[in-house]
Amino acid sequence: MDLKSKLREVPDFPKEGINFIDITTVLQDAEALKQCIDQMTQEVKSFGDFDMIVGPESRGFIFGTPIAYTLGKGFAPIRKKGKLPYKTIGVEYELEYGTDTLEMHIDAIKKGDKVVIVDDLLATGGTTQSNIKLVEQLGGEVVGIVYFIELSFLNGREKLKGYEVKSIVQY
Ligand code: AMP
Repeated sequence: MDLKSKLREVPDFPKEGINFIDITTVLQDAEALKQCIDQMTQEVKSFGDFDMIVGPESRGFIFGTPIAYTLGKGFAPIRKKGKLPYKTIGVEYELEYGTDTLEMHIDAIKKGDKVVIVDDLLATGGTTQSNIKLVEQLGGEVVGIVYFIELSFLNGREKLKGYEVKSIVQY
């Protein structure tokens, strides 16, 4: 199945000039959802052995957790400021539209853990850069990053030089 044909493009959301790629049309289609998770799982496996999957709020949770479950690994969430209940570390980040702070529990990963970051979409790469900072501050090693979608024209990979980056659907 062509997963790209299942994605919905919403012009001018959440503000003018942003062509928002809506993943809900894939999520609500059982066959498309399965194919998407299966393909992303294969990409994660291509990095070899690892310990944990880390995914950022909120669409990173949707894709990261089933992949972790399938591969028999743990999942650690990255959340926006003030959402995680225990002790956290935080970094500021920039989005294609705005800025915020991301946090992770200090014991979410162990020193030396090999980590794969999973998210829905690579745009500017700003979110992933801060995800990497959080993982590395906790002593983890990012062995790969997997996205469902990559907006190639925004050159997000430039910010992620030196890291293994994979995506299923490209624009
Ligand atoms: P960035 O930090 O610029 O790579 O953007 C990261 C996050 O913003 C992605 O994981 C998406 O959840 C969201 N995002 C940015 N641009 C878009 C877009 N055009 N369509 C859908 N989601 C987007």
